[in-house]
Amino acid sequence: MTSFDLRKHSQPTSDAVRDAILAKPGFGDYFSDHMAHVRYTTEQGWHGAEVVPYGPLSLDPAAAVLHYAQEIFEGIKAYRHADGSVWTFRPEKNAERFKKSARRLALPELDTETFLDSLRALVRTDAAWVPTPTSDADECSLYLRPFMIASEKFLGVRPSHEVDYYVIASPAAAYFGGEVKPVSIWLSQTYNRAAPGGTGFAKCGGNYAASMLAQSEAAANGCAQVAFLDAVEHKYLEELGGMNLFLVYKDGRIVTPSLSDSILDGVTRSSLLQLARESGYTPEERRVSIDEWREGAASGEITEAFACGTAAVITPIGELVTPDDRIKHDTDATGPVASALRKQLLDLQYGRVEDTNGWLTRLV
Ligand SMILES: *Cc1c(COP(=O)(O)O)cnc(C)c1O
Repeated sequence: MTSFDLRKHSQPTSDAVRDAILAKPGFGDYFSDHMAHVRYTTEQGWHGAEVVPYGPLSLDPAAAVLHYAQEIFEGIKAYRHADGSVWTFRPEKNAERFKKSARRLALPELDTETFLDSLRALVRTDAAWVPTPTSDADECSLYLRPFMIASEKFLGVRPSHEVDYYVIASPAAAYFGGEVKPVSIWLSQTYNRAAPGGTGFAKCGGNYAASMLAQSEAAANGCAQVAFLDAVEHKYLEELGGMNLFLVYKDGRIVTPSLSDSILDGVTRSSLLQLARESGYTPEERRVSIDEWREGAASGEITEAFACGTAAVITPIGELVTPDDRIKHDTDATGPVASALRKQLLDLQYGRVEDTNGWLTRLV
């Protein structure tokens, strides 16, 4: 176990101000009073684990991350249950993925124990920042953002010898502002998010930087998000900028693109595959072409599509907009399968149904 030294904030947020924030937290706008930190050097390895007051980092202008983007991150939530306890969902999966991302970005791996201890240390210190749901429809949580940056001062191109790992925490309401309604998605035919041999499977800031312009193109076309095709044949569905993709078939099949080095292995994706199987659907992981979606939606074989990720859970896709056409399903409303899976996952995360798979880890 890694023990985190605690240096408490001398002027933490007052109860009144924090309560006002927690009543209407939005997403990613406010941060708790502390952050967890662990330092790495090639000589000493990981050391100096601490929880310190939240605040600006001091980085040398020549710090490697600022020039060559040697950075990775994670996204995971802490949920308050009805009895006041605080839990997180499958954190070992995030820890494993964080190691994979580190390897690809030539950053040092942080062991699973220290990753879990960092979440525990921060959430225990800032437990008052975990919002309490006011109803089953209140999807509030404390969003945790672990990240790792190359902090060595030098302008040569090689893996940094100094690295810092942090966790910050942000109280969050539902990602898209509460009401679950189908969104329009733009199909990018100009830009790729990831390519074979690239960093698509790693959760790194660079992938997001590369997707921003496509996201702007989506917004300019009245869409909330962008979907990417494979970079080789421009034919197979991959995922959205930050969410995995599922198609629902009339006959009970639920299909998601199989993992490759250009698709992020989402914890929500993996959990939904299992929940779908347990609910009697037939999950399939395989290649899915854009034409299959187009034809399936037109014939009525494909009845729903949705995107999934920790932040927004499940977001129904109302239509896929391309430069040439609009792929729509029979109904404009949120589909029954997306609704049911969404409820099942949230009930699990908020402790309203029994955790038969052992997916929850108690933090407080
Ligand atoms: C984080 C992320 C997802 C979703 O992963 P979850 O573990 O379900 O939150 C999907 N795609 C990309 C590109 C991501 O960065």
